[in-house]
Amino acid sequence: MGNYWSVDLRHDLLPDRRPAPLTPRGQRLFDYWTQSVSQATRYDDPTTLRCRHRPGRRPCGTLLTIGFDIDAFDVLWLCPRCDDRGRISGWEGTFWDNGSTEPEGFS
Ligand SMILES: [Zn+2]
Repeated sequence: MGNYWSVDLRHDLLPDRRPAPLTPRGQRLFDYWTQSVSQATRYDDPTTLRCRHRPGRRPCGTLLTIGFDIDAFDVLWLCPRCDDRGRISGWEGTFWDNGSTEPEGFS
C-alpha cells in the first residue's frame, strides 16, 4: 500500500519565502516536495524524480508521474508501481516554481 501525502509548502516557509529550519527527516521530505514542484513546473522536460517509498524496506525507485490538479492548481504526483502519492499546494511563486506560463492539465 502506498501513502498519501498532502502538503502545503507555505507551512514550511518563512515570511521571506526561505525554508524554515527543519529536522533532518523533515528536510528530506521537504526536498522531495520541492523537487516535485520543480519538475512539475518544467513543463517540457521529462520527469526524472524517482519514488522514495520503501515497500518492504526495499527502495522502490520507480519514475514518478507528476501533473496538476487543474481545478485547485495543486501539484499531484504518484508512483505507478507502489501507489505512493501526494498533493502539494502553496507552491506558486515559490523558489521552485519554474513556470511562467499556464501548465497543462493532468491527463
Ligand atoms: Zn514507488
